[in-house]
Amino acid sequence: MELRKDPITRSWVIVGDETEKPAHAGYCPFCPGSPQAPQTIATMNTGAGAVSAMVHPSPLYRIEGEPSRRSEGVYDAMNMVGAHEVLVQSVRHDIELWQSSDAEISQFLLLAAQRIQDLKHDLRFKYVTFFKNYGAPAGQDFSHPVSEITATTFVPRRVLYELRASRDYYLDKERCVFCDTLNQEMRDPVRIVETRGNYVALCPFAPRVPYEIWIMPRKHESSFERSINSRAAQLGDLSALIRRTLQRVMSLAEAAQMVLHTVPNNNVEPNILQYLKTVDEDYHWHLEILPVLPAKAKPYFLKEVYYTPVSSEVAAARLRKLSIP
Ligand SMILES: [Zn+2]
Ligand SMILES: [Zn+2]
Ligand SMILES: [Zn+2]
Repeated sequence: MELRKDPITRSWVIVGDETEKPAHAGYCPFCPGSPQAPQTIATMNTGAGAVSAMVHPSPLYRIEGEPSRRSEGVYDAMNMVGAHEVLVQSVRHDIELWQSSDAEISQFLLLAAQRIQDLKHDLRFKYVTFFKNYGAPAGQDFSHPVSEITATTFVPRRVLYELRASRDYYLDKERCVFCDTLNQEMRDPVRIVETRGNYVALCPFAPRVPYEIWIMPRKHESSFERSINSRAAQLGDLSALIRRTLQRVMSLAEAAQMVLHTVPNNNVEPNILQYLKTVDEDYHWHLEILPVLPAKAKPYFLKEVYYTPVSSEVAAARLRKLSIP
């Protein structure tokens, strides 16, 4: 497998001839006492049960070696160098993130922030994030409740679009586009699902899928990992909002994906990457939650344009109405 860059859209794409993945053995690799547990990278235990980061048993990216970026005429390619870790959210096999206590979720957020910051010391990595796939239609790999961390030598396409757009908006207005959007949404809260302290969950104006939700800080913060690490003892509101929002989503969908969008690696020399120059002012971290609903076959034009048959206003109203403990 290698990374290839589309010279027109400038997106990096993973290309290769896949070999058969080894079949999962008859036991869970992440349950305590597993006969072949992956290597543990970090553990956090503040009294709410342990969470740990482990090496992914079949990683997409390999930590060893150099990206060896090379040209093939007009084309660019590089090796699949990066990091791929599993965040084991609970020692319990049957407790998902939204069934955990707020203290356990806080611990999970701290571990994720710590791993992201740690991986950013490696200057080969331009972007580090965590994501979660829940349910078979969402591409869940392991039956144990886990999330995954990836560190890549490039910024993934969707984040790159956001970075370029927020930099352009900032150059024009000297304001953060996320803060401006949020301020407008708070004035007429038809798309707000819930606010809790400094955090808000809302349905975006132009969603990609029904019931798409973003969770973000109301006051400007560019970096998830720096913010979480700097207020380790005050994560109760965010943890409760994540738990409650996921409970809402899981009562409407059987599968969902959650991904963190945060600043790229600022430790990389800012002169190399244009979008890093004002990134702490113009970019605003957020979690995107994308429910996966049973899909009908789509006519071709809908593959090139997102089509969401539930408006964000109706989605937010339905999500607000659900009673959540
Ligand atoms: Zn397990
Ligand atoms: Zn902002
Ligand atoms: Zn985003």
